[in-house]
Amino acid sequence: MAHSATAPEGLYIHVPFCFHKCHYCDFYSIVENDADRHKRFAKRMLGEVDALLALAAAPALSPVSIFIGGGTPTFLDCEAWHLLAEGLNSRLDRSRLTEFTIEANPETVEPELLTLLLEVGVTRVSMGAQSFQPALLKALERWHEPASVGRAVRIAREAGIGQVNLDLIFAIPGQDMAALEADLDAALALEPDHISYYGLTFEPNTALTRRMELGQVQPVDEDLAAVMYERILDRLAEAGFEHYEISNWARPGRTCRHNLIYWRNDDWLGIGPGAASHVAGQRWKNAPHLGLYLASQHLPPMREIEAPDPARALGERLMMGLRLREGVARAWLDQALGADDPRRGVLEEAIMAGLIEQTKTHLRLTRRGLLLADAILTRLV
Ligand code: SF4
Repeated sequence: MAHSATAPEGLYIHVPFCFHKCHYCDFYSIVENDADRHKRFAKRMLGEVDALLALAAAPALSPVSIFIGGGTPTFLDCEAWHLLAEGLNSRLDRSRLTEFTIEANPETVEPELLTLLLEVGVTRVSMGAQSFQPALLKALERWHEPASVGRAVRIAREAGIGQVNLDLIFAIPGQDMAALEADLDAALALEPDHISYYGLTFEPNTALTRRMELGQVQPVDEDLAAVMYERILDRLAEAGFEHYEISNWARPGRTCRHNLIYWRNDDWLGIGPGAASHVAGQRWKNAPHLGLYLASQHLPPMREIEAPDPARALGERLMMGLRLREGVARAWLDQALGADDPRRGVLEEAIMAGLIEQTKTHLRLTRRGLLLADAILTRLV
């Protein structure tokens, strides 16, 4: 890393604290509300930034976008936030910065914090709404009141935050089409700039998956989930949203710069326990363990370090690129994919089956292909 245009485009900051563990969640997060630990965490995180800067012999990080995720960053103690905000100010070169997002749980959004975040430079809040139906939030064991989402969006707007994303989930156990329509109505009424709408997945080692295995919750039927996704496609298009990634929609000009870094396989640096990084073909992940993180010096312990071989790296780039509605450039593909690469056959098969289409310049998923995206994309890695 150097302090130049070659520096990673993205900076991801992982705040691991939550006030409750949602049952579907497989992110590294811990339920802890100890102000001293929050402050120690903020100091340690600045120490990690210093270690990275020393390694790169750079005076400051100069990302194009910053994303503070979690966990629940808005749950971090206010004093810890002040420490982090002040520390980041002196370690950031903002000359390239175009987007600064923070994830928020609606229940933890307060005017004082939003004003501080605006001062730090936050331009975008990603609000974890998931659903507006109490019964569906209960099915997910998600602890917030539906009305808190609107309240939090208002606070963010009043504080002067320019862009608001709503995170939503469909195919929640117990959800029917009427409940989906009600969620879409409620979400659109808040006039977000961006919507991320993911189908629920039952991740291994989560409380929700255990409840499913015990027969306590029934997953939504796959066909119904597909109908729901198609309804989301139609409703958000009617409402003027641009569909730019399988699960993401934006008002014109409001795409998420940071997530595009991941989908375009650009470089980003992650700090905090459990954060992943991707720089110059190398990938690593900090060990997801707050105790080890706090006890460490310089760089924190890492769990995985790898440099994927060129064939795999190409497959991953192809898979991520096809997630985007623009698809992947045919010129790049022709040059990158060897004549006897078996993935050519996979792509041709998908084209014949009407799952992928060729535009003049790109290959992209068709509407039918969107419904079967996982099955297609996993064959390309
Ligand atoms: S608030 Fe987010 S990170 Fe925390 S437990 Fe729930 S889903 Fe996971």
